[in-house]
Amino acid sequence: MIPMRETQRRKLLQNVRVTSEKKIAILVARLFNQRFKSLKRELRRANLRKRLAKLQGVLLFQKTDPYWMEWIENFNEQLTKSFEEVIAEYSSADNEYWTSHGKEPKIWDTAEVVRAYEKRVGRLIVDISEGTLTQTQSIISSWFNTEKTLPDLIKELEPLYGATRAALIAATEMVNITSEVAREQMEHFGINQWTWDASNDAFTCEICADLHGQHFSVDDLDAYPPAHPNCHCGTLFTGDDGKEIYYKYALGDLEKGGAGFGRYPAGSGGSKTTE
Ligand SMILES: [Zn+2]
Repeated sequence: MIPMRETQRRKLLQNVRVTSEKKIAILVARLFNQRFKSLKRELRRANLRKRLAKLQGVLLFQKTDPYWMEWIENFNEQLTKSFEEVIAEYSSADNEYWTSHGKEPKIWDTAEVVRAYEKRVGRLIVDISEGTLTQTQSIISSWFNTEKTLPDLIKELEPLYGATRAALIAATEMVNITSEVAREQMEHFGINQWTWDASNDAFTCEICADLHGQHFSVDDLDAYPPAHPNCHCGTLFTGDDGKEIYYKYALGDLEKGGAGFGRYPAGSGGSKTTE
């Protein structure tokens, strides 16, 4: 098997990442839209503030509200399933690189990856849908104490169920996934450190520009991207000598007579290298 070059690997992973992020964003937007549509119906049915006062009680207690219970359960189930599919795809793409370098690839338990990253970031997937309910309740409560109309309320709720928020969630969770896969790959291959890579971002913010190129320990669980919502940063596997791992493998390939090393000088990370 021809050893995969680092640039090829990045391109491959980048493609999977972009496609997967879109897939998640579409799913989340669809699930939000579904809930918002029926929420609007529920609110309109309770058009009179007096009646809404009663309905508010229902909205405030998710455990007694079958609409919310069902939606939260379905949202959680579908999102987790989608994450697991994405993890399977992403990790198997990454495995291709390692296999091509003669390494025994890691066998992935996708459900375990989800649990591991939930634990690492201290937040559960279900928090997204339950958080949507909590924020909905808070918007309705504030509205209730004003003279604003029902259309005003619906307008205020809109961003919570909009495509922009869905895309933000997808971007953030996608980076959580890629970071977790990277962390577990490092554990599997005994790589001890990684370098912050901000180059996936079309626009690199100040936070990430500062982080770019910094080294972190594989065990520094709080350090991994994303640094902020909508962060697209990644992790570059780094050897104990501070050089990117691919440099080592490329060097190994060179020793075995592999071609193309000269085009991938050390420290060229950040995917600035072109084919
Ligand atoms: Zn970033």
